[in-house]
Amino acid sequence: MVSEIICVGTELLRGNVVNTNAAFLARELAGLGIDCVYQTVVGDERETILEALRAASKRADLLVLSGGLGPTKDDLTRETAAEFAGKKLVEDERSRKLIKEYFDRRGIKPADNNWKQAMIPEGSRVFDNHNGTAPGMALETKNCRIVLLPGPPEELQLMFRESVEPYLKEFVAGVILSQTVKTVGKPESLVEKEILGLIDRQENPSVATYAQDGEVHIRVTARAESRKEANKLIKPIVKELKNQFGDEIYTTEDDVTLERALADLLLDQDMTISCAESCTGGLLSAALVNVPGISELFKAGLVTYSNKAKRRLLGVKKSTLQKYGAVSRQTAEEMVKGLLADSRTDVGISVTGIAGPDGGTKEKPVGLVYIGCSVKGKVTVQECHFAGSREKIRRSSVTAALMLARRCVLEYVSKVTFGK
Ligand code: ATP
Ligand code: MG
Repeated sequence: MVSEIICVGTELLRGNVVNTNAAFLARELAGLGIDCVYQTVVGDERETILEALRAASKRADLLVLSGGLGPTKDDLTRETAAEFAGKKLVEDERSRKLIKEYFDRRGIKPADNNWKQAMIPEGSRVFDNHNGTAPGMALETKNCRIVLLPGPPEELQLMFRESVEPYLKEFVAGVILSQTVKTVGKPESLVEKEILGLIDRQENPSVATYAQDGEVHIRVTARAESRKEANKLIKPIVKELKNQFGDEIYTTEDDVTLERALADLLLDQDMTISCAESCTGGLLSAALVNVPGISELFKAGLVTYSNKAKRRLLGVKKSTLQKYGAVSRQTAEEMVKGLLADSRTDVGISVTGIAGPDGGTKEKPVGLVYIGCSVKGKVTVQECHFAGSREKIRRSSVTAALMLARRCVLEYVSKVTFGK
């Protein structure tokens, strides 16, 4: 089965909303073994939606649309799809009842146009909306099936999992399953070079690399009759990658981020962490606070942007700042030592650098960042050179800081455990 995704919404075309529905749908369809060959975005206009449907129906046998099922005048997907399929809109009693219940629960009287959402192309399969009012639906034409889903991602995702997936499973066989091996420490070109043999050798599962915010993810994707079969194909490849990249792999789970992997490692070791930031301005603390349950181990995050703050809050020496400057190995070291002086934290991270676009010199160019890390009193300072915008340099600094902390903790653990 071949599918296409059509996302309807002028706000998507203008860039006001990021098209996360397309990414979600593409992933889910792949997981069901359905190839997605095209993705289209169109505005809220009858003629353009019709044109997209006409073109897509020539190429694919499943069209999945998102958006434009709401009650307002610019929501045209339902009417247009019905027109395309040559079906009349009829009121669906159950949908009307659910819309009434939705408003009753909230103690609100529905507006007249809310009932429009209970109008369904004749003969369609209706999907209940448990997060909103617009039901989804599937209609069939001579040569394709058309699935219509509401635009708000939380409505679309729940509906897909609850109703669309079982609907699609009625007529597709097989699955496509992926597992991601996430690495830090090597650039993508190097990672790819090291596994070129594996990439070339493999067709099913396929192996591909993706660079993401200073990390390199290796995605292993298998096609098979069942999830179990697909997992069986993926497992030996992941094992091979684990042997090859060792500690550079921080997780093989899709939903584990680098900050979460560090937090898990610290939790495992019963260690606490604090950080002192200059150029990242709180971004590192924010990354750590993204991890649920971080309060167990995250003690403090200081933003010491000025020299005065570095001196007053962290005890960085005036002479150090004068002699070496705020962006220096020495300052990063004194920052992290000062941070841990009275905080009784096991691990400390400091970041000081030049995020640009101004402020660089020949000796200290934009993108120069020093990261200090202290684990149980042992201090390591790393010099980094990043390129790109101010935002990118700050994000790269956060990744590098998390990575350094992870490496230093692993080193400490292996020393304590194996005396190495
Ligand atoms: P509503 O009843 O809310 O009007 P709808 O089905 O008519 O739902 P739209 O009006 O197209 O959907 O979109 C509603 C909102 O959902 C948009 O403002 C946007 O925030 C979000 N949205 C729509 N399409 C997408 C998409 N492809 N990716 C991410 N978000 C989207
Ligand atoms: Mg709408």
